[in-house]
Amino acid sequence: MPLHIHDTLRREKRLFEPRDPSRVTLYVCGPTVYDYAHIGNARPPVVFDVLVRLLRRTYEPSGGQVIYARNVTDVDDKINQKAAREGVPIGEVTARYEAAYLEDMARLNVSAPDIAPHVTDHIDAIVGQIQAIVDAGCAYAAEGHVLFDVSSYPAYGALSGRNLDDMIAGARVEVAPYKKNPHDFVLWKPSKADEPSWPSPWGDGRPGWHIECSAMIEKTLGLPIDIHGGGIDLVFPHHENEIAQGVCAHGHAHGDEAHDEYARYWMHNGFLTVDAEKMSKSIGNVLLLHDLVQAMPGEVVRWALLSAHYRQPLDWNQGLLDQSRKNLDRLYGALHRAADIAPDGDQPPAEFLKAVEDDLNTPGAMASLFALSSEIERGMTAGDHAAVARAKGQLIASADILGVLQSDPAEWFSGVDEGLKTEVEGLLADRQAARAEKNWAEADRIRDRLNALNVVVMDGPTGATWRVKG
Ligand code: AMP
Ligand code: ZN
Repeated sequence: MPLHIHDTLRREKRLFEPRDPSRVTLYVCGPTVYDYAHIGNARPPVVFDVLVRLLRRTYEPSGGQVIYARNVTDVDDKINQKAAREGVPIGEVTARYEAAYLEDMARLNVSAPDIAPHVTDHIDAIVGQIQAIVDAGCAYAAEGHVLFDVSSYPAYGALSGRNLDDMIAGARVEVAPYKKNPHDFVLWKPSKADEPSWPSPWGDGRPGWHIECSAMIEKTLGLPIDIHGGGIDLVFPHHENEIAQGVCAHGHAHGDEAHDEYARYWMHNGFLTVDAEKMSKSIGNVLLLHDLVQAMPGEVVRWALLSAHYRQPLDWNQGLLDQSRKNLDRLYGALHRAADIAPDGDQPPAEFLKAVEDDLNTPGAMASLFALSSEIERGMTAGDHAAVARAKGQLIASADILGVLQSDPAEWFSGVDEGLKTEVEGLLADRQAARAEKNWAEADRIRDRLNALNVVVMDGPTGATWRVKG
């Protein structure tokens, strides 16, 4: 079955047909780099990484190119606030959290996007798109701001299913005196003296959030793109506004299917909750990705994130993590048992493709991995090595699309995950320091902790080595 995608705009599952199969384009809204990402923020990059792997597998063998862009928002009020609090330039804050983000993405085995456009590198493109929107009569300048005039775009609200009249009736948005309509949104705004600013025809200032994506999409991928993705919270206003901007910049505001000039398919992932609650600072249940991937293998986190269909809500809890680890143990167990048999073939079986091509049905795809691991186990028991080799080839090829089972099975079972390694190595360095200071109480405390971690330390002439007991 060829790939079908649930399109948020048309509210139905549709056959995916790229505009040009030799150049398939995908854009996903990326992080605002002012702090560590939480586990909810990790859902879109992991989900869309599976999509990109699938698209590459589909289009690249016949010479097509898949171009995936995920932006970095490095201009934002929260970034300004953090930099001001720390007394450092914004670039220092954004570089720190972007580096952490990329490190955590690598632990999740999320492949790097082909393009990672930064707002600070695209101010010219942003100003250019704003100018085009003004020239098309869809935006106006007022008091150093440029505002998009929502009344100029009749299809405004099509993506989110909102109607402008209803929106106005129930308006709770801040009504600034310079706005013609309360729903007009900012394309450009003036900066205060201590805020970062760039020159523009409307005065020095900085871009609004929505315009960055539409301008960078036009600049880096070209319009229209095939697929635009992000979390469900971005449908309104972010993506609704992106469509309005992208379409109006090209003077197509009044065509019936004008939105097709921007993105042909819209995909949105559902929200992640923690122990059935919305993550929030006030509840104190915000789980940082950076901490999670220290505490357990990134693969467990990735598996857990893919264990529900991407459009469904996903609840993050201990049971989910235990189950994810158990599932991976089962799959790695089969690969471990068949370690001496070379895989035969490098294609996933039809059932796997059927699931993953059905709007990324990852739970169905995972079920197909279990069926293959059972085939391996049965083949091993029966001594049918040809069957084992075939199932192993299919399992590895399928797991590759989900981005899992990439470790050496023996290593997986050695119990040496990254989090443990980091902790043990830190403890050994502390132990050495404690001994050098003849702080025996501290050295004993560290020994007890290593025992609790089930680690045996062997002191040797070149320093200490260690292994997990058992
Ligand atoms: P933000 O940094 O808030 O712009 O979010 C980055 C990405 O994470 C966006 O695509 C959001 O839709 C997505 N996102 C934020 N919170 C959650 C959550 N709890 N569950 C799933 N996705 C989320
Ligand atoms: Zn965006």
